[in-house]
Amino acid sequence: MTKDDIITLPNEHLREKSARIGVITDEIKKIVQDMQDATMDWEASRAHEVGVALAAVQIDQLLKIVVVRNNYDNKDDRTFTVFINPEITKLDGELVEDYEGCLSVKDVYGKVPRYSKVKVKAMDLDGREFRVTAEGFLARIFQHEIDHCNGIVFVDHIKDKPEAFFQLKEDGNLEQLDYDSDIKNSRILW
Ligand SMILES: [Zn+2]
Repeated sequence: MTKDDIITLPNEHLREKSARIGVITDEIKKIVQDMQDATMDWEASRAHEVGVALAAVQIDQLLKIVVVRNNYDNKDDRTFTVFINPEITKLDGELVEDYEGCLSVKDVYGKVPRYSKVKVKAMDLDGREFRVTAEGFLARIFQHEIDHCNGIVFVDHIKDKPEAFFQLKEDGNLEQLDYDSDIKNSRILW
């Protein structure tokens, strides 16, 4: 599976709820591998970005699966942790605004408010329940990815915020987008 298998807005599946998984079959394991392959292939095509995480809906599988890179500060580490049926059990700390992008939202970044701490409950590929506590950027990743499982895209959180939208320039810097001309009436984002 490659980056071309990743669906992007305005594909309406991105706004649908994914289904819970009962039994972990070989088919589920194949989807997990496809998600990792697609993420790494996407990363190989980008100069300034890291493929940090992916939800199954992004390869058009409406199932509650999230994969998160184990060490997104080191591009050579290609390993992931798999979260089946991930759920946020607690949001904590304060709301912090920071930049967010998405493999399913082409060329648009946003400054999105997220809680600084989360507790997550999920199942691993052996069907065992496990829990994770995360802070900072990792807490942001979980909120972003578990939103995907519920049909929410990051831009939905900032829809009415004219100052929250950015694009990545070729030099790797972010530049604010013109809300009225590029965002407000976009036929791609909404
Ligand atoms: Zn995303």
